Amino acid sequence: MSLALNNGKAFVNGKLSMLNILIEGKKISGISKKRFGTEKEIDCNGKIILPGAIDAHVHFRCPGFEHKEDWFSGSLAALHGGITTVMDMPNTKPATDSRPALEEKRAIAKDAMVNKDFFVAATNENLQEIAFIPDLRGVKVYYGSTTGNILFNDSAKLAELFRLSKKNGFVVVVHAEDEETISRNAKKFAGIEDASVHEKIRSEEAEARAIAKLIELHKKNGGKLHIAHVSSRKGIQLIARAKKTKSGKNLTCEATPNHLFLDSSAYKKLGNLVKCNPSIKGAVHRKALWKAFVKGTIDIVATDHAPHTQEEKAKKYSEAPSGIPGVETMFPLLLDAVSRKKIPLKRVVKAVSEKPAQIFNWKTKGLIKKGFDADLVIIDMKKAFTVKNEELFTKAKYSPFNGQRLKCFIAQTIVGGQPYG
Ligand SMILES: [Zn+2]
Repeated sequence: MSLALNNGKAFVNGKLSMLNILIEGKKISGISKKRFGTEKEIDCNGKIILPGAIDAHVHFRCPGFEHKEDWFSGSLAALHGGITTVMDMPNTKPATDSRPALEEKRAIAKDAMVNKDFFVAATNENLQEIAFIPDLRGVKVYYGSTTGNILFNDSAKLAELFRLSKKNGFVVVVHAEDEETISRNAKKFAGIEDASVHEKIRSEEAEARAIAKLIELHKKNGGKLHIAHVSSRKGIQLIARAKKTKSGKNLTCEATPNHLFLDSSAYKKLGNLVKCNPSIKGAVHRKALWKAFVKGTIDIVATDHAPHTQEEKAKKYSEAPSGIPGVETMFPLLLDAVSRKKIPLKRVVKAVSEKPAQIFNWKTKGLIKKGFDADLVIIDMKKAFTVKNEELFTKAKYSPFNGQRLKCFIAQTIVGGQPYG
C-alpha cells in the first residue's frame, strides 16, 4: 500500500519545509515539493510532520505487573504522545536478566502498536550470558536500588561490563545513584512521611557520587556509557566536564520531562504522585538541567514512563512506589516549550528522535529521509489542549501535568506506514 502525506511542513535536513512525503509499505520512499498522487492520502493542511519520538526509557511492566501497565495500554498511550518506538526496562517480574526472560518478553510484546526493543539487566552472575546475546542495544545497570531491586555496583564487575560493551557495542545504561548515601540518608530521615523528604534521601550527593565513580570506571575500561535520568546540578556538571575528555565521545546522558519541567515545589501539591527515582529536586537543579538540555550536553529526553496504580501511590510516603507515567506528555510538553520559544524545534527533534536513534543503533529511524522507516508524527502547532487525567490511556490515569494547557496537538501518529488517530 502507498500513502502520501501532502500539504504539510516536514522536518527534513534540520528544518521545516513545505514537502510532501510518500510512504510505500513501511518505508519513506519519496520526499518532494510536488504533490504525490496515490491511492491513499492524508491532507496535512499546513500541520508539521516530525520523525516519531524514540523513547529510550519506559517501564511497560510486563511480565509481572500487568495491573500497572501492559503493552496494549502502554503502546496506545505512546501513540497518543507521538512516540513510535519504545525501549523497555528490565525490572519486571521475572527480571529481564537472561536470554529466556528476554525471549518471554519479546513474545509478550509482539502485538504492540509501536516499535520496541528491550534492555537486559546486568547481574553479578549473567555477564557471560550477556556476552552472547545477539543484537543487544543496551544493558541496564541499577547502580542504586529502585523498583525491582536489581543492584549491580561492584567495581570489578562494572569494569568487566564496560569491556564487554567495548567488544560487543551495546550501551551500558546506568541508573546512577549511590546506594550507601541513600541508605545513610534514609536512616537519618526515617519516620518522616512528607513526600518532600524524598529529595533529601535521594540527594544531589547520592547522584553525583555515583556519576563520578561511573565516569572513572568508563574512562579506564572503555565501552559506551549512558547516564539515565540525570536529576541534579552536580550530576550534569560532572558529565559536562567528562564529555570534554577523550572517553567523553562515548558518554551520553538523558533527562526526563519530570526533572526538566517539575521541581521540589511539586511535592506540596502532588505528594507521592511525583515520587520518582532519582528524586525531583529544587529549582536550581531544574534550571541547570534545562540549560544543559538547550546547550546539548543532555543528549536525549526520555520519559522513564513508570506507572503505578493510584491506590499504590495513595499509600504513605515510605510505602508508596516510585515512578511517574509520561509517554503521553513528553512530546507535548517539549513542543509547548518550542511554542513558548524556550527551545528551538531542532533541538527537541534531535533529543527525542535523531540522537536516541544514533545512541541505540536504530539505523533507519530518527530522521525523515528516503529509505528510512515511516515512523512519523503529524502535529498541529496552532491548536492547544489541556492534559486531563481521565483522558489518559495509561492504566495509571494520572499525570503531574494534569490541568496544564499545552500549545500543540498531536493529530496523528504513523508507525511503519500505519496511521493511527
Ligand atoms: Zn526507569
